[in-house]
Amino acid sequence: MAQPCVLLKHGEVVLKGRNRGRFEELLQRNLRTALDGIGDAVRIRTGRSVTVLSGPVPVEQVVERVRRVPGFNVVQPAIAVPKDAETVAEAAVGLLRDRAPGTESFAVRARRRDKDFPMRSAELAGFVGARIQRELGLTVDLTSPAVEVTVEVDRKEVYLSTERIPGQGGLPVGASGRAVALLSGGYDSPVAAHRAMRRGLRCHFVHFTGAPYTGPSSAYKAYALVRQLTRYQPDARLYVVPLGTAQRSLATAGAGRLQVVAQRRLMVRVAAELARRVGARALVTGDSLGQVASQTLSNLATVDEASPLPVLRPLLGWDKTEIMEEAVRIGTADISRLPDEDCCRLLAPPRVATGTTPGQFARLEGRLDVERTVEALLERVQVMRPGREGAEGPRAAAVA
Ligand code: ATP
Ligand code: MG
Repeated sequence: MAQPCVLLKHGEVVLKGRNRGRFEELLQRNLRTALDGIGDAVRIRTGRSVTVLSGPVPVEQVVERVRRVPGFNVVQPAIAVPKDAETVAEAAVGLLRDRAPGTESFAVRARRRDKDFPMRSAELAGFVGARIQRELGLTVDLTSPAVEVTVEVDRKEVYLSTERIPGQGGLPVGASGRAVALLSGGYDSPVAAHRAMRRGLRCHFVHFTGAPYTGPSSAYKAYALVRQLTRYQPDARLYVVPLGTAQRSLATAGAGRLQVVAQRRLMVRVAAELARRVGARALVTGDSLGQVASQTLSNLATVDEASPLPVLRPLLGWDKTEIMEEAVRIGTADISRLPDEDCCRLLAPPRVATGTTPGQFARLEGRLDVERTVEALLERVQVMRPGREGAEGPRAAAVA
């Protein structure tokens, strides 16, 4: 009689009001994509504060996929039973009968989303608790129980669960619109993109290589990173742009200590144009204030001045150790760790200017004809879809 299911507790989006339909659609679509290949038969029902997944797929497999979908605070494997106190008590006893050895204390926490249920929450918790005590001889401990049984009375059925797995939190991807994330091969930018996704931004990616002066290793890393990140959002484009020739032109034009910031200004211009093509309204970078010479406040401001779109920096206030820990948690650290030929090291001056102003770049960019340079870069963009099921590797990339 008890049906296994998975409860997903909505985070900040408790579905109500005018946006309800849109959010519900996003949650459902994102879940469907996350379940791609295993979950066609999974039923998805979205309520105001909880979404319930049920169907003939092993609960562990479903949990493994859906814990990565932003918008849910908690993921709970559960069982669904008919709405009747007696049945609920029996099911609770059944759940605890298979408990881990040594689990001797418990608490029952009940809540009702259906206020018409004949017992109040406290009464139901007491009723279920008394049954567990009597049949299994466990002790009630409401402050620090070894196991907690949650009983949730919903509209059509009652859910029982003893496990709470943290979800990603945040908002459903797509709820905040789109952005283009600048993805290098390092630790920071994938974490920044993940943060942006968690706040509801659907991200596409752009990676700059030093080609023709560097090999393809950094593009392979970017490809692998995007693949990893598409576990958190439906799928994404990766634009790869060979920046080497433009970097060389900047150096020849006498960029000197301005080289790195001048490259960044080119990058945001190109990224903003790609953003326009995919309907994105912001750029995302992995900058953290003061982390390296190119990320002083004045350098960030000088880059912003070249960007037609807002540059979002989710990691601005993060320390390197915090970023690294998060990279491990989201599964990008092992890829970022791999060696590559980073375009920023190509032609990097021994000392990067830390106190730049936009005015310093006007002459340099004039000598280069920056508009022409951006156009030429855009002509050489390659686009890939790393997250697609059955997608080929980076070598099989199609031209935009
Ligand atoms: P990361 O760890 O993300 O590489 P970082 O600490 O190395 O960052 P920088 O190299 O100064 O910092 O880069 C700052 C940000 O600029 C990156 O987080 C990324 O968003 C963007 N960026 C730098 N290099 C590239 C690149 N080759 N392609 C795309 N974006 C880049
Ligand atoms: Mg870097």
